[in-house]
Order: sequence, then C-alpha cells, then structure tokens
Amino acid sequence: MLVVMHSHATPEQIAQVIAAIQGMSLTAHPLPGATRTAIGITGNLSAVDPNALAGLPGVLELLRVTKPYKLASREMHEADTYVRLPQTTIGPGTFTLIAGPCSVENEEMILRTADFLVSQGVRLMRAGAFKPRSSPYAFQGLAHAGLEILAKARARTGIGIVTELMDTENADAVEEAADVIQIGTRNMQNFSLLRRVARSSRPVLLKRGMSATLEEWLMAAEYVMAGNNFNVILCERGVRTFSDHSRNTLDLSVIPPVKHLSHLPILVDPSHGTGKRDYVPAMARAALAAGADGLLIEIHPEPDRALSDGAQSLDFPGFARLLESLRRLADPLGVVIN
Ligand code: PEP
Ligand code: MN
Repeated sequence: MLVVMHSHATPEQIAQVIAAIQGMSLTAHPLPGATRTAIGITGNLSAVDPNALAGLPGVLELLRVTKPYKLASREMHEADTYVRLPQTTIGPGTFTLIAGPCSVENEEMILRTADFLVSQGVRLMRAGAFKPRSSPYAFQGLAHAGLEILAKARARTGIGIVTELMDTENADAVEEAADVIQIGTRNMQNFSLLRRVARSSRPVLLKRGMSATLEEWLMAAEYVMAGNNFNVILCERGVRTFSDHSRNTLDLSVIPPVKHLSHLPILVDPSHGTGKRDYVPAMARAALAAGADGLLIEIHPEPDRALSDGAQSLDFPGFARLLESLRRLADPLGVVIN
C-alpha cells in the first residue's frame, strides 16, 4: 500500500500519517519525491484496514501495490533510485565501472590494481577477501588480512571498495572496509545475511542467484529494503542453463524487465557471466547497449597467475582497450562512463 500525500502536505501531516501507520503495527517508509511525499506501508496488511488513512489531512490517495515485492517495485517508487557513494553515484545516465581482481591475493597486486584503475578514471574497485569457492581445497581468500589490504588501497588512492560478505559473523569487519557490500550469487536467499545488511549504512550489491527468477531476486532486494536500507544495486551475473559453451548464461534480457518493474539500478558482471576473458568485452558492450547502469568486471595484473577466476579476468591493457570502446559507445547513447 502506498499513501500519496498532497504536494502541499505539511511535515506535521506526514508525521501524523506515519504515526497512524505505526499504530496499526505496520511499518511506514517515507519516500520523498520531487513534487510530493509518498509513504510506503509494509507489514501484514490483512489484519488491518488501512483505508482509514484516506481520511487523514494531507492525504491525496491510497494506492494498492500489487507486486509481492513492495519497496523494490516501481509501483511504490516511480523515480529511479540513485545510490550515492563518496566516489560516485550509481544510477541511470551514468555507466559505472567496478573493476578488480576476483580475490585479494596480496598487497602488491591490490595496490597495483588500484593505481591502474585510478589512472583510467575508474572510481570503484572490487576484490574479495572472503571467497565462496566451490571446492574447500581452493584458495579461500585472505579474510581479515585481505580487508586490511583493501583499506590500505582505499586510504592511499581514494578508490571505493566493493567486497563480498559471506556470513553475518564478519559483517562488522566488511562494513568497515567496504563502500559497498557485495552479496554473492550463492547467498542471494540467505535471509539472515540479508536482514543483517538491511541494518547497514552501506549500500548493498545484490548478485542474482544462479537459478533465481526475477521475482525471487526482487524479493531478496525487498528483504534489504524492508530493514530500511534502500541503497540496493542489483547485479546480473549469469544463470544456469543447458548451455555449456560458457560458464553461465548471461541474462541480458533481464535488464528491460528489471527497469520496468523496479527503480533499482542494475549492473552486469560479464566475467562470471561468460567465464572466458575473450568473451567479456562483447558482453560488456552489450550490457551498456541494453541499458545496464554499469559493470562489475574482473581484471588482474597477471591473469594467468591468478589464485581465482584468472580465465575470465582481463589484463590491464585488455581492460584499457575495453574502456576505450565503451567510451565510444557511451557517447551516442548519452551515457557518461565513470
Ligand atoms: C565474485 O564476484 O567474485 C563472485 C564470487 O561472484 P558470484 O557470487 O557471482 O559467483
Ligand atoms: Mn570471481
């Protein structure tokens, strides 16, 4: 349910509506807009009659939100969401690049990567300190030592850090090191983890589960938003299909429906989406053309020596070439790359 206030509604009238919603044991989410405020209502609406709100002063109308995801839906929040970070803003009109190695391997490679990205005008670096690996014998990440390296790179270069949180236990530490907390494909429906990041002041990059429908994905975003963290960035990273020519099937066809149904920004990860570095540039450009708001992309100073995902990582010259081609493409599309 959405309560739309008159454009001339006073702050007192808005506060009165919020109090009335809370009085029904429901949660009120004020959504200030360009011309008027709307107030989203979540909770168990079956037990109460929110129509009583229609008579309160300043209320223009009540709208039913038909989708099961409420706060993530365009019905509730018509305008696009822009996720503001100290380094940049993620949302339509800008194509944001988040690049870096799959894993933090050592300080030297992270500082080298950060310096390279800054030289290319890239403002956000990705790298995992906690790694969800299919094999328990594979490199599991440097954990807390990795977070310290990321913090050092941030302090030295000012680059923003995007890094994965795998469990609630490490949430405080990841929150401290990260500008954006990444939730990986394997944890998209880890509801206790989603509830934890819902309480965070950091934006959340929510990767699509490898076999999640769009509705399941948006419901996962809803978990984060229901806890009042509205800064959710979706990330398509490929889904499981019968196709075996690539690691996953990068579902670029999900971008238009995401834009139609939700106001949240969506990034594309062509690295995990293809699994092969030669295929990454084409899909990165396709993501831009299809209306994505940016990329999450793996690069490595020496991909063939990477401890994880080297086969899908671009080297620095390869990334610079891709960036050049993206800039050429962005111009006619009226999008700025950063
Ligand atoms: C990653 O970004 O390195 C990663 C583990 O991604 P995903 O969760 O999409 O597999
Ligand atoms: Mn990876």
